[in-house]
Amino acid sequence: MIEPILEKARNGTELSRAEIAALLSITDADERKALFDTAYAIKEESVGKIAYFRGLIECSNLCIKDCYYCGIRRSNDKVERFLMDEEEIFKEAMWAYDAEYGSCVIQSGERQDETYIAMIERVVKRISEATSGEMGITLSLGEQTEAVYRRWKEAGAHRYLLRIETTNPQIYARIHPADHSMEERLECLAALRRTGYQVGTGVMMGLPGQTMEDLADDILFLKSIDIDMVGMGPYIPHSDTPMGKEVPAYTEEQKTQALMLGLKMIAVTRIVLRDVNIAAATALQALEYTGREQGLKCGANVIMPNLTETEFRPKYQLYDNKPCTDENSSMCRGCLSGRIKGVGEEIGFNQRGDSQHYRKRTAD
Ligand code: SAM
Repeated sequence: MIEPILEKARNGTELSRAEIAALLSITDADERKALFDTAYAIKEESVGKIAYFRGLIECSNLCIKDCYYCGIRRSNDKVERFLMDEEEIFKEAMWAYDAEYGSCVIQSGERQDETYIAMIERVVKRISEATSGEMGITLSLGEQTEAVYRRWKEAGAHRYLLRIETTNPQIYARIHPADHSMEERLECLAALRRTGYQVGTGVMMGLPGQTMEDLADDILFLKSIDIDMVGMGPYIPHSDTPMGKEVPAYTEEQKTQALMLGLKMIAVTRIVLRDVNIAAATALQALEYTGREQGLKCGANVIMPNLTETEFRPKYQLYDNKPCTDENSSMCRGCLSGRIKGVGEEIGFNQRGDSQHYRKRTAD
């Protein structure tokens, strides 16, 4: 049934919304394998069999936003708030550099005050100078003005991740308070693009009320805005959030379903977008220990090992059962490298691993 669609994908023919939704709806194990194998072949041809590491520094859980799904939302008073100082962030980035990761990601809850903006600017500049501009620096610090994006870019950041979360306006409105605007988020993505970043966005899969057609629209949206990088992952309930209170913790069967949907989204995104960077989200590992490696086998080419100090990890719980919260960076490097090599992938040590899509679109 799906073979003619996969054949079109192999030929590089554009897929329709209905065809994308059909691929996302696959339940049969043989069909799923055919989808994953097709996506893997397209990955090999478009971006190679190399997994790039981005050391993830979750530098603060202070947040001015109140997203109904997120464990570090402003109104969750059970969270003990933390803020790493400049020295700690710098030290972790240098650890990643010495570990030959090639890139780091600085992520936190959202803050728009000058003290925070200036601190990030200083630390980005320090990392950039200390590594002679060799270290890839990705930021994931939420919605900011174009002027702030520009300051951070001039300090040395190259890439920015800002998930749209869902492109269905009704779902967006259900999972956010009324003052969280989808239009503003879209405007931020446009500002990032104007500022010259490699821009990444993505969605959560498995949101209440979300259909395969919604997810097909999400993939077509990523294509329509000519995105360079994709970071998306399964929605996982957090018990201290308004949405998590309505959805009981996932059963083993629901975890498997959420993992399969996450993997199918990666595979279909690879088929439709071809040469972008796609991250295998940590949330995949929360559903199954080898979830991220499975993501690589379905078309992802980026992994974000956690560098956050062990003491802070339990405080950056976006969802329940976030993995590796009792490990440290060296343990993550060791166990992850072995598992990635085990699935036949090379690791792009000491490489920034810029998006091929970005390289092509900025070549002339
Ligand atoms: N503040 C920045 C922002 O909004 O882009 C970065 C931090 S935010 C916590 C990073 C991402 O975590 C969000 O874009 C969201 O997709 C994801 N996230 C939050 N809660 C989640 C949950 N319960 N399940 C899965 N992903 C979640």
